[in-house]
Amino acid sequence: MTDTPPIIVWFRRDLRLSDHAALTAAIADDAPIIPVFILDEVAETWGAAPLFRLELSLDQLERDLRDKGSRLILRRGRALPSLRALIAETGARAVHWTRAYDPASIARDTEIKTALRDDGIAARSHPGHVLFEPWTVETGQGGPYKVYSPFWRAVRDRDPGRPLPAPGRIPGPDTWPASDALDEWELSAAMGRGACIVADHVTVGDSAASQRLAGFIARRIDPYREARDMVAEDATSGLSENLTWGEISPRAIWWAGQRAMDDGKGGAEHFLKELVWRDFAWHLAWHTPHLLSDNWRDGWDGFPWSTDPDAPEVRAWKQGRTGIAFVDAAMRELYVTGTMHNRARMVVASYLTKHLMCHWKIGMDWFAHTLIDWDPASNAMGWQWVAGSGPDAAPYFRVFNPDTQAEKFDPDGIYRRRWIAEGTARPTATALSYFDAIPRDWGLSPQDAYPGAPVVALDQGRKRALAAYENRNF
Ligand SMILES: Cc1cc2nc3c(=O)[nH]c(=O)nc-3n(C[C@H](O)[C@H](O)[C@H](O)COP(=O)(O)OP(=O)(O)OC[C@H]3O[C@@H](n4cnc5c(N)ncnc54)[C@H](O)[C@@H]3O)c2cc1C
Repeated sequence: MTDTPPIIVWFRRDLRLSDHAALTAAIADDAPIIPVFILDEVAETWGAAPLFRLELSLDQLERDLRDKGSRLILRRGRALPSLRALIAETGARAVHWTRAYDPASIARDTEIKTALRDDGIAARSHPGHVLFEPWTVETGQGGPYKVYSPFWRAVRDRDPGRPLPAPGRIPGPDTWPASDALDEWELSAAMGRGACIVADHVTVGDSAASQRLAGFIARRIDPYREARDMVAEDATSGLSENLTWGEISPRAIWWAGQRAMDDGKGGAEHFLKELVWRDFAWHLAWHTPHLLSDNWRDGWDGFPWSTDPDAPEVRAWKQGRTGIAFVDAAMRELYVTGTMHNRARMVVASYLTKHLMCHWKIGMDWFAHTLIDWDPASNAMGWQWVAGSGPDAAPYFRVFNPDTQAEKFDPDGIYRRRWIAEGTARPTATALSYFDAIPRDWGLSPQDAYPGAPVVALDQGRKRALAAYENRNF
């Protein structure tokens, strides 16, 4: 083994050992493996909560690798020179990685593949981040899907292949190259004092994600279809946090869901349908990358959305102080847990883009800063879906009424009490924890009065949004 040149496995958003095609292929080549993560030009652009969550994931991956006799080498800098330096130091002959589908990663990876091959290094990418790679699903006419339902029908009977087992031991080199120390990167610095509050709400790593999946299948998948919209209930899988960092593969979830369907579990098919929404988002992002940054539909560029991210009404929305209890509860859930219930995401997105008439990009950017399950494609698709500018979107004139939504999906007010402290005699611990998480310079206290009047009243906001829509010139 000592004379065999090593192989680099370049980890990115695939921070797991099970069902890892790149790692499995590298091990099959019978050479020492050097696992590496590079805090590169793509990762440096990520928001505060994603970087905080990344740190936890890297820490766990390093432990998991050590259990297998291996290590995780950490480097910081542009990916290509970092890989070239590592290759020069170790004599590696190949680099394997899992494919990514966002434009920045694609540009980086394409350049690296060409450059390494010119250097005489085998550069091999593998699938693993989605169930079905975007170019493998085509309409009858040969183009990409733009509507979800036919996309679902096209993939529902496809076989993504069996998940690969985690390797036993991972062979390492005799001498390990130098590595940065993870804490030197200070990945949670931008979270400020919120880091230790959000840390109470995370479930990190490969085996924790598998246990989470098993627990969901055993206890919650049956009533999933009916219960998944009830915001106060623990009725969904919570796996988005793990999927986005690649701590579990979508294929492992697909297989578990299929088995649950075979076992006659009621909500299993609906759960798989939701999982496929994530694939659909990446399908759209790969075929029409402007989904991630611009109005997907022509014409919306002229819509009179406000674009000021510091406007007072946007500040109220971010701080959970709009005076609309369901919206405020959800925005606080986001700040404290780093996630938000899907129903609540739709309601806060609708309130921002319609009642407050603010551009969906302001909301998308705030989510990218605060979500630990931040996924560029699902986030952009979700925002554009609600705003009406996206593919297969809810029509703009569909304005969620947060009060009606609360009556339906939080009928006993449990969710709102869980997150709002002001004006209550005995606030819950979760509601109070919000004030420990937020920056001190927001100047908020649980003793404050809850806003007496909403920042924009529901009826007034709805009418203004619909009038703007009627007057649009597209
Ligand atoms: C405005 C907005 C922004 C969003 N931003 C993100 C984001 O940054 N990251 C993210 O992962 N999801 C995002 N979503 C989708 C959805 O809200 C979350 O995936 C879901 O809340 C995750 O909870 P869960 O894992 O318990 O889901 P479950 O109900 O258990 O579903 C299982 C899996 O299916 C996928 N899924 C479910 N619903 C959706 C959906 N509507 N779109 C895409 N995939 C879905 C997720 O991967 C999820 O983990 C957004 C939705 C909206 C409306």
